[in-house]
Amino acid sequence: MENGKKHHGIIESLMHGLGFYHDTPYVSDYQREANVRSTIYMSVVIIVLEIWMLIRNVKLNVLTGKCTSFGMFLQYTKNYWILLFVGLATLIYGLIFLKSRRKGLRKISDIWITLFAGICLYFGMQTSFSDFSRGRMIICFLTMILYVACLLIWRPYISIFMLTAIAYGFYQWIDHFAVDKQGNPVHVSAGDQINYITFFISLIMVAISICHQRHREALKAESLEIAAITDELTGLPNMSRFSQLATDYLEESKYTNTELIYLFFNIENFQTFNDRFGYNGGNKLLRSMGQIIRENFPGEPYARQSDDHFVVLTKFEGYDLKVGAVRNSIKYQNKEEVYLDIKVGAYRVKDPDADPRLEVDHARYAANLLKNREEEYIREYDDQMDKDYRLRQYVLNNIDKAIKEGYIKVYYQPVVWSNDGELCGCEALARWDDPDVGFLSPGKFIPVLEECRQIHKLDRCVYETVCKKMRDCLDNNLPIFPTSLNFSRLDFELMDAVGELEKLVEKYQIPRKYLHVEITESALSNDIEGLQKSMRILRERGYSIWLDDFGSGYSSMNVLKDYKFDLLKIDMVFLKNFTGNDNAHKIIKSILDLAKELGMMTLTEGVETQEAVDFLQGAGCGRLQGYFYGKPMTYEEIYAKLQDGTYRLASEFI
Ligand code: C2E
Ligand code: CA
Ligand code: CA
Repeated sequence: MENGKKHHGIIESLMHGLGFYHDTPYVSDYQREANVRSTIYMSVVIIVLEIWMLIRNVKLNVLTGKCTSFGMFLQYTKNYWILLFVGLATLIYGLIFLKSRRKGLRKISDIWITLFAGICLYFGMQTSFSDFSRGRMIICFLTMILYVACLLIWRPYISIFMLTAIAYGFYQWIDHFAVDKQGNPVHVSAGDQINYITFFISLIMVAISICHQRHREALKAESLEIAAITDELTGLPNMSRFSQLATDYLEESKYTNTELIYLFFNIENFQTFNDRFGYNGGNKLLRSMGQIIRENFPGEPYARQSDDHFVVLTKFEGYDLKVGAVRNSIKYQNKEEVYLDIKVGAYRVKDPDADPRLEVDHARYAANLLKNREEEYIREYDDQMDKDYRLRQYVLNNIDKAIKEGYIKVYYQPVVWSNDGELCGCEALARWDDPDVGFLSPGKFIPVLEECRQIHKLDRCVYETVCKKMRDCLDNNLPIFPTSLNFSRLDFELMDAVGELEKLVEKYQIPRKYLHVEITESALSNDIEGLQKSMRILRERGYSIWLDDFGSGYSSMNVLKDYKFDLLKIDMVFLKNFTGNDNAHKIIKSILDLAKELGMMTLTEGVETQEAVDFLQGAGCGRLQGYFYGKPMTYEEIYAKLQDGTYRLASEFI
């Protein structure tokens, strides 16, 4: 059958209806717990009832003088005392059961519940037997039957058997042994027999229906629970389940002195695989990866963390062999021509009490260092990494404070016209000057902030610092120059980048032509339409839009096809090994020609030598930026250099 539903034949359905099926431990536990709860309710009823009976007995027998000794009173009230203690014991047991959930208590619960039900039934029958002899109704018996059959849940075949046996037995007992005060036998009348039989049949039906209902509830609760701890796609545990499993495993290892290690798996090139084989193909690969992990780490905690990331906690001994096996299997999956591999980070457990979810992050960190390193696929977290990792944690924990306290500084790197070397603008570059850890360059914090989706905070701060400084200069008649601001792809995702920039421009009253928007090529891959719209608005408002790092990625030409830029910023990689490299010359020249063709202005970054300057001038590049003209520096340094004549500000900005 489709949808995973099993098809039942008539016999099977009947057997199932009668309760002949196998329950998972979860479902059994669920029902058992419900029964314990019912037992608690019933024990309260019994306790109240018996106390009432005892008080009544004191009134009837002690106060009237019928009972002359304590022994006699005990004799009269023996059954009430027994029931009272059984009720109390059951209540205490039930409450401890629900609270502690200890395995030992679970084991005896079925016996306890059955015993308690039996005792209730027995006393119910006895009381009703004597009631019947006195010509009264057998309410007590019926009450107990209701409790045992309907408040407690039994498999239907047990309910049917039990109720039939009880009903038959009880009436046989009455028919044979009940006598009235005069000693004459009393019988159940034919009319009552029909009533009782109808009653018992109805009771059986009610019991069966409640049982099925409870069973369905338990299955539903189980599937919800499973969904909450399982990764839907691969069926592997999710991270919250992993955390539980790992905690147990670590606890165990403390006693057995086993050394453990966390592994983080990342499928290299998954994105390309996805692009090539589509969503379904990608999902299939993830499912196979899940299966491979399962097979190689049986009985150990593993999970799918997210995307194409998997985590495992395994024994240190021989872990590399297992990883090797996983790698071989995943490479074998790849029958098509897409290159597939895994990158694995490993982190040896140091503190078994630390939160597994956080610990696994060390392994992830080690794995991330292997990106684009073809020859290496596994790396263990070491001391140097630990230093970097701590710095990274520091960055994440302190970015808000750094912004608030003004530790984030903006440095300006000059950009000059290539034909006359006059200053035509600057690029704003962030620095983090921290009183505790010292001076941090962007390489230390930008990638971290991007990875953890915090970059927009920094960028917003840089934009504001730039605008504020510009306002300050305008108010004090100090020189200003166009400044280009770096935008990450995530800025457009994590904040209303255009809106934020506009707000600042309004607040500080900055002419828009003084701000350029630099967008990195890699920023342009995802949401084409959203970004195109943002860029259109920016352009309409009067900002110049620059394509940063052109040529550093893989999709340069595509980017030019899909987006419209005002300026093309050629990445500094082209100027590496530039001297005497004829090909480099040709490539730069043709990029410059292409830009011209597409109606874009040009800038080359990383200009460090006179040779590069001469070439770029000759090749027709509009602007130049690089250490040859100056490293990123504070506004004050730029100002000083303008004063002493090192820089001349282009006339259009004076
Ligand atoms: P980028 O936008 O490509 O910035 C140019 C980087 O190249 C700067 O590094 C700059 O100091 C360096 N550079 C400039 N001229 C030369 C040269 O002649 N030779 C060499 N070897 N390097 C040169 P920096 O300031 O360390 O920034 C690195 C990257 O960090 C930037 O690359 C940019 O992607 C990012 N970044 C910096 N500030 C910000 C910011 O405020 N927001 C965002 N989103 N990213 C920023
Ligand atoms: Ca830039
Ligand atoms: Ca750049």
